[in-house]
Amino acid sequence: ESAVHRTDAVIIGAGPVGLFTVFQLGMSRIRSHVVDVLDAPGGQLTALYPEKPIYDIPAYPKVLAGDLVDHLMTQAAPFDPTFHLGQRVEGLERTADDTAWRLTTSAGVVLEAPAVIIAAGGGAFGPNRPPLPGIEAYEGSSVFYMVAKRAAFRDRRVVIAGGGDSAVDWAISLAEVAADVKVVHRRAKFRAAPDSVAQLHAMADSGRIELVVPYQLHGLEGEGGELSAVIVADLDGATRRLEADRLLPFFGLATNLGPLAEWNLTLDHQRIVVDPATCQTTLPGVFAVGDVASYPGKLKLILTGFAEASMAAHAAYAVVHPGQALHFEHSTTTGVPALA
Ligand code: FAD
Repeated sequence: ESAVHRTDAVIIGAGPVGLFTVFQLGMSRIRSHVVDVLDAPGGQLTALYPEKPIYDIPAYPKVLAGDLVDHLMTQAAPFDPTFHLGQRVEGLERTADDTAWRLTTSAGVVLEAPAVIIAAGGGAFGPNRPPLPGIEAYEGSSVFYMVAKRAAFRDRRVVIAGGGDSAVDWAISLAEVAADVKVVHRRAKFRAAPDSVAQLHAMADSGRIELVVPYQLHGLEGEGGELSAVIVADLDGATRRLEADRLLPFFGLATNLGPLAEWNLTLDHQRIVVDPATCQTTLPGVFAVGDVASYPGKLKLILTGFAEASMAAHAAYAVVHPGQALHFEHSTTTGVPALA
């Protein structure tokens, strides 16, 4: 995917608040494109707690986070948003003719729009990278932070690092295709679903998986991005060399405001300062909503983010359709308006 897209508004972040912003913008006849670094919409709800019930969404006494995301996608669908997933927004600048904002993503996509709504939560989700010197040289060729295709690990000697659900589940799954699987964890005890842990131990007992515990990652050996061994150390610092051509570190996801911090926005403790009446940032036409937005009394809840999405959409109308009056309509009397 590589192209210049022109649209009315770009939403940074497909979390719950970004998704509801698509709906609210659509109600104001504003088309949108949505970018998220994750491969699926839903933000924290998808990445951190898809199966947790939420009790404080108005009119839903109880809703699973994953189901709420599905409902938000359904609600946004009539406005036909374009999603650019699996890529991070890196740059924000004015277009040469100063009529719009120009955003660039890590996948080389360029988006131009008069309005930008930042719904970036705590920042872009990314893997926690183990502090191994030179690891960058192996990323994407021998070191991976997720499994996109199991077949890519066929007949490989795989080292998995970590003790949570991802480490345990992928060890079990990859043991079916890999030449061998070793799991490095700094404790003997794994913190994952009990059934999965039991299966891991059963496979270790039968020799399908080797548990390398309690050990930590210590170093990498290889050349030209091709790994030949992973060095691990025990708690006393004694090292062991594990022959391997693939390493999968599963140390969880961290968020990082990343490029947003470079955009001349006014920040307060890693949040973007907005005018609470409009959610506009200190850059004209750039709004911030949801967890990333900061103003006195801010509550970091989905509910507040939804209300902020509505305020930002209202204020963005004047930016996208200058000089035209917004005839504020209730969705109940009009249904969902068609975009011209
Ligand atoms: P997020 O959900 O954080 O989504 C932001 C998205 O933006 C992310 O997907 C991120 O990858 C993306 N992004 C950021 N920067 C970039 C970039 N540069 N380029 C591309 N993409 C980017 N709230 C409640 O109201 N009720 C609850 O019961 C509740 N329970 C919770 C339980 C847990 C365990 C946690 C962790 C939080 C809970 N919360 C709850 C808080 C709630 O999840 C957040 O308030 C909500 O997710 C904020 O939504 P958001 O859309 O603003 O941001």
